[in-house]
Amino acid sequence: MSVSGRSLPPVIRDVPGQEHATAFLARAFAQPSHAYLFSGPEGSGKRLAMRAFAAALLCPTGGCGECRSCRLALGERHANMLVLEPSGPDILVGRDASDPNTARWFASRAYLTPPEPGRKVMVVLQADRMRVEAADVLLKVLEGPPTDTVFMLVSARPAEIPDTVRSRAQEIAFPPLSEAFVVEALAREGLSGQRALLACRLSGGNLGRARRMAQSERGLAFRDAALSAAALASKGPRGALSAAEDLAAAAKEFRGSLATELAAELEPFLDGAGRPEEAFRSVVRRLEEQHERRLRRAEREFLDSALLALAAYVRDLVVVAMGGGDEVLVNLDRPGQLGLERPGWTSVEAGLALGAVEEARADLADETNLNARLILERLFLRLSATAGASATP
Ligand SMILES: [Zn+2]
Repeated sequence: MSVSGRSLPPVIRDVPGQEHATAFLARAFAQPSHAYLFSGPEGSGKRLAMRAFAAALLCPTGGCGECRSCRLALGERHANMLVLEPSGPDILVGRDASDPNTARWFASRAYLTPPEPGRKVMVVLQADRMRVEAADVLLKVLEGPPTDTVFMLVSARPAEIPDTVRSRAQEIAFPPLSEAFVVEALAREGLSGQRALLACRLSGGNLGRARRMAQSERGLAFRDAALSAAALASKGPRGALSAAEDLAAAAKEFRGSLATELAAELEPFLDGAGRPEEAFRSVVRRLEEQHERRLRRAEREFLDSALLALAAYVRDLVVVAMGGGDEVLVNLDRPGQLGLERPGWTSVEAGLALGAVEEARADLADETNLNARLILERLFLRLSATAGASATP
């Protein structure tokens, strides 16, 4: 292959588990075209690869991975890197160029000279969420592409991007990573095999999410909170109400610690008086908007992860009841707690419990449901009724 003759830029070499995609990017780097589409499921590494490619294009030495340009690009904070992403459910067309984080705002910057000398990289995250009018605005830009600018679209659902836009970009596919690969990658980073496997299964094989879960002590807080709540709920209706209260409190606590973390992320871009430094003004504004969105969703996301972990746990109970072994369990580190107070759930009970969990997740996802606590109370009361029914044969 011709790539082996040329050396792979270090930033691109560091993208794990996607040899085809990285080989493609290394070739593309020599003579980049105007637009690329990074497509693949969540956790396959497409966004990581997009950042690496951006770093390679913006770095004065072609993607060393260590200089200021590389570091900023890898964090999506380079001044020459403009990122458009949905600020609500969709990417909107916008009133005009001054309407931030909209297609018109994005397109209006396509023909401007970049803040720093060199190329410009324009990224659309979750590109499948562009409304039709927004996609039309982007299409116009792609039809008359500005010089020295590379567009990168990122999407987990490329089929939902209008063909007119999709056909203007070279598509790079990122297939899902295997469990073995994710576990090995985490183990290489120094995590124990069991913790790596646990994080891999709880994250559904998403390497980035699995890494966050496995690395920090608090990374599995949602699962621990969910399991103690389930244990409480199995003690009857009073326990069910406490379970809802505890889980809601854990979600609030998570939001609080996230706020502290996000504030620390802004610090390097602020001057002594806490104001953004001139060159980073738009970067800081984007980060602040991102933080606001993440904080707004933090409690619901924590609860959603907790309920997913709860579903995995119920599934484990059934596997154990049917005599299944460790190789198919998710919560491998909690063998003593599998079964709670009983030898095992029947598949009928488990079906009822999983149905209740799914319903609660759907209710929580609907942001017009303002009272998360009520949703949790109903869920745990139903779970406790399911457990109670089978305890008295
Ligand atoms: Zn560099």
